[in-house]
This record gives sequence, C-alpha cells and structure tokens, in this order.
Amino acid sequence: MRYSRILLKLSGAAVAGHSEFGFDPTALNFIADEVLRLHEAGTEVGVVIGGGNIFRGNLGTQWGIEHAEADNIGMMATVINSLMLRGVLASRGKAEVRVMTAIPINTVAEPFIRLRAIHHMEKGYIVIFAAGTGQPFMTTDYPAVQRAIEVRAQALLAAKSGTDGIYTADPNRDATAQRFVCVNYDTVVRNNLRAMDQSAVILARDHGLRLHVFNFDQPGAMRRVCEGEDVGTLITNCPEDVLVVDQRASAAGLLPVSQP
Ligand code: UDP
Repeated sequence: MRYSRILLKLSGAAVAGHSEFGFDPTALNFIADEVLRLHEAGTEVGVVIGGGNIFRGNLGTQWGIEHAEADNIGMMATVINSLMLRGVLASRGKAEVRVMTAIPINTVAEPFIRLRAIHHMEKGYIVIFAAGTGQPFMTTDYPAVQRAIEVRAQALLAAKSGTDGIYTADPNRDATAQRFVCVNYDTVVRNNLRAMDQSAVILARDHGLRLHVFNFDQPGAMRRVCEGEDVGTLITNCPEDVLVVDQRASAAGLLPVSQP
C-alpha cells in the first residue's frame, strides 16, 4: 500500500444520493462499503464530512441570518452527518468507529484531542472528525486538511461525484479537455482550479500534504488510490504538471506541461 493512513473528505451531498437534501440509505451503504474496503486492506482511515445536504452557512445569509450563526448551524449539520455515518459503519460490525467533534457535545461524541485521535487510528478505529474547526467563516475543506496534518495522514482523498479529477475545461462539453494527472499546488491556486477551497490547498502546500481528487462514484477508486494507481488528480509539489487528454488516451502517453 502507498498509504497506511489517509483522511477521506466527503461532501454532505455524498450521503444524499440523487436527492439534494437529506439522506439516502443506498448512498450511505455505498460509503460504508468503500470505507470498510480500505479498512480491511489495513489502511487507517479518518473521515471529514460536510453538511451541505442539510445546511450551508452561505444559505443562511440569504435568509437574513447572521453569517457566524449560519455557520454554527452548518457545523451542527456536519455533526449529524458524522453520527449518521458512524451509525451505518458501526452497524456492519467490522470496525470500531469514533466521532470526535470540535464543538463539545459530550453525550454523543468525544471531543477532538489530537493525540487521542492518533491513538484511535493506530488501534485501527475509523475516526470521523465532526464540526469542522468549530469556528465560522470556512467550509469543511480547510478542517479536512487541518485534521489530516494533525493526525499525520499521508494523504487527503477528496471525494467528488460525477468527475474523474481536475480538468482544463469541462470534459462533458469540451472534447479537448485534459485531465491533470498530477498538478502543483501553486498551479491550482494561481489558476483557481476549483478542486477545494484555496485556503485548504495553501495549508496542504505549506505542510506537504498530498491531495487526491477522485471520482468516488467508482467502486474501489479510493482503495486503488491507496494502492498507488494514478486515479483522478494528485495535487502535490510535482516539478511539472502532467496532463492527459482523456482516460482512453492515457495509455498513449502523458503530456508534460511546463510551469508558467
Ligand atoms: N462550517 C464552519 N466552519 C467549519 C466547517 C464548516 O462554519 O470549520 C460550516 C459552514 O457554514 C459550511 C457548513 O458548515 O457551509 C457545512 O460544511 P460544507 O459547506 O463544507 O459542506 P459540504 O459542502 O462539504 O457538504
């Protein structure tokens, strides 16, 4: 295995399936399958899940709710999703699963204590980090990178739906669109490639955390990333960006692109 400890970042949308809001049991079971597939292979897994299937802070401001208050609601949404995920994962009886939260809710989840989180992971427990940073004015991208660095994960796996990675253009509309196989953090920031929030990419860059952007819809994709396959897009400090015309063309060779 290339990675023995990773952090998976899921959007709240991942638990909603084809709906915009709420929960879909099929989607929840799919996530459980994918996480347990990795766990069974011996990789230590941490998870950060967003709250967009319930509430995002920027929606609250449209409704006239003060931004900081709306973000508190959003953070609580991530707690609900984390507990839901723990419930589904634990029901399989294959792994011990803990939720650690940045906002104290002592009767339902443990507080986030960094060394305790690492200890859980060393014991093979799946750890779900809830409530983001506990602070407003950000999404869960930043705390996902932060927790990954804190627990010494070797990579963050950013799960996407309906896309195989980062492209130069929308591959559904532009046949010449190229997928980045490997892209430098600075290219992502400079060109505002919308894989993750910029603040999260910069934090990852400053601490050398590898970011994999990949299609979570494909069963086994996450495990293949950890086994070392070139799945999706890797954001790292690669000396030059590497592009491929499309999936089918990848066998024909990669097209190196110099840094501007
Ligand atoms: N949030 C926050 N601080 C954090 C993490 C999240 O205030 O450290 C709030 C913010 O309002 C955000 C919401 O929680 O919109 C839900 O998270 P996110 O938008 O990342 O959910 P996703 O889009 O990934 O489902």
